[in-house]
Amino acid sequence: VLAAVGYTTYTVWEGNNPPEQFEPDPSKKTLVILGTGWGSVSLLKNLDTENYNVVVVSPRNYFLFTPLLPSCTTGTIEHRSIMEPIRNILRHKKAKVQYYEAECTKIDYEKKVVYAKDDSEIKGDTMETQIPFDMLVVGVGAENATFGIPGVREHACFLKEVGDAQKIRKRIMDCVETATFKDQPPEEIKRLLHMVVVGGGPTGVEFAGELQDFFQEDLLKWVPQIKEDFHVTLVEALPNVLPMFSKQLIEYTESSFKEEHIDIRTKTMVKNVTDKYIEAEVQQPGGTKQVEKIPYGLLVWATGNALRSVVKDLMSQIPAQAKARRGLEVNEYLVVNGTENIWGVGDCAVANYAPTAQVAAQEGAFLARLFNTMAKTDAIEDELRELSAKQATTSGDDRNAVLNEIRERQKQLRRIKQIGPFQYSHQGSLAYIGAEKAVADVSWFSGNIATGGTLTYLFWKSAYLSMCFSARNRVLVAFDWTKAKFFGRDVSR
Ligand code: NAD
Repeated sequence: VLAAVGYTTYTVWEGNNPPEQFEPDPSKKTLVILGTGWGSVSLLKNLDTENYNVVVVSPRNYFLFTPLLPSCTTGTIEHRSIMEPIRNILRHKKAKVQYYEAECTKIDYEKKVVYAKDDSEIKGDTMETQIPFDMLVVGVGAENATFGIPGVREHACFLKEVGDAQKIRKRIMDCVETATFKDQPPEEIKRLLHMVVVGGGPTGVEFAGELQDFFQEDLLKWVPQIKEDFHVTLVEALPNVLPMFSKQLIEYTESSFKEEHIDIRTKTMVKNVTDKYIEAEVQQPGGTKQVEKIPYGLLVWATGNALRSVVKDLMSQIPAQAKARRGLEVNEYLVVNGTENIWGVGDCAVANYAPTAQVAAQEGAFLARLFNTMAKTDAIEDELRELSAKQATTSGDDRNAVLNEIRERQKQLRRIKQIGPFQYSHQGSLAYIGAEKAVADVSWFSGNIATGGTLTYLFWKSAYLSMCFSARNRVLVAFDWTKAKFFGRDVSR
């Protein structure tokens, strides 16, 4: 019996094409989608996958609800609650979508292939391959900007991926435990308990708020002796934090941080990072600059986005992108300038909007509509060609019937082709600022509302809850919030 089973298994898997392997339909175009972030997943969610051979390539096999990532650094939310496995998303699609867990290392624009590299710890016989495409969507996001500042990559923690949040969570506790180690000198205690956040954008502000909450609500109960020395400082090069919010909300955030005892150091630009301190250029009231050393135990670096090398490389292959600096320049239909079959969505593309999740999600949904329409157009154009050929060979009443049908198809085609260019509709900006307060610049009917405070915090909570990817995520996040409220955060590593 075992021999028979063995034989059957062997014959099924013999050859290059095991049945589970993706068999592209030659009558359809191959659409390759790079990435599983906001842009790509929003596209996948809305795309009619029956129209194309869809292939997804991404090293991250889940979608991450990034707005709640700062809450994962302190254990308010467990990271699994904001992750949705990509395979679970894809299995609900009408037609099969092929997913490869791999990093796209190069896009060859001329040859129309992407190079994919399997980065997993398990080493298979094939670790690198090429995937041909007819149409390509680049939604690979961005990497953390360091501006080439020495020491950042070696010593700072970023806040972009799940692994980053886990690392920060572990570091916070490491700093606390090492600071309270027997015979630790007072200066060293102060250093270890100094939590420095660089970058006063929403990421830095939200993290600083979450960290101070963690200290006030939980850490102090567990380790009361750190009360005097635990300190959160937010460092920002510009004269104020949260530049994308209104002046009123910036002031509200700054005064709220003051009440929470979070220090904001504006006009302070970090120039160098060592393992124990940062060196920053501080602008003095007279305009002169002074270099200051700021010791830290934990350093979180949140200074925005930089281009990924795969995107830079693609730009170098397209002459029309020669002047582009901030990312792939796209037209109003999100087509990468200088190409006809490559589209760019999210943080890797420049479409005159801030690189936010909201923009990426709307771009992805727009592309899905565009591709669904293009497929319909192709089908009608095929039918029209057939009808024209038929018309040439028919006469009398039959010919009139064919002509009517042609007119009907042409009308349909005109209607479908009316899809307008991408237009971003800004729903507003929201940020949590700690101590159960949030700020919101929200578009409401035709006006704008700028609010801050506890009610806004409840609005922030309900907005984020409703934006979670799935009902499962929603239940888990709500459960985590309740758990943290009643039982505190989990301070173990
Ligand atoms: P950001 O680009 O918004 O802010 C980075 C800040 O770092 C800037 O204010 C910059 O002046 C400062 N900076 C840069 N180099 C510095 C240095 N050497 N020393 C000191 N300060 C320095 O970055 P982010 O917060 O990561 O956000 C990235 C994008 O994502 C933005 O478009 C943002 O709007 C969006 N985002 C939105 C939300 C939200 O709406 N709640 C949350 C997170 C991110």
